Amino acid sequence: MKECPFCGSDKIRICVSKGPDGPDSYFCECETCGATGPIKEDIWDTTDTDKKAVLRWNVRATNQEKERG
Ligand SMILES: [Zn+2]
Repeated sequence: MKECPFCGSDKIRICVSKGPDGPDSYFCECETCGATGPIKEDIWDTTDTDKKAVLRWNVRATNQEKERG
């Protein structure tokens, strides 16, 4: 897993959001600055996993690095 694109911390944990109306959503959260990664695009997607949350986090971190140059 990539470091936090905002503070550089490697203390990233995976959280689960238990939607009352839908299937669970996984997302990554930086324990240092509280930044959170993207959740799945389709809230009705029942195949979301912690691994997918990590993938999304990595994509976002990579994009953030590109923006900074
Ligand atoms: Zn952070």
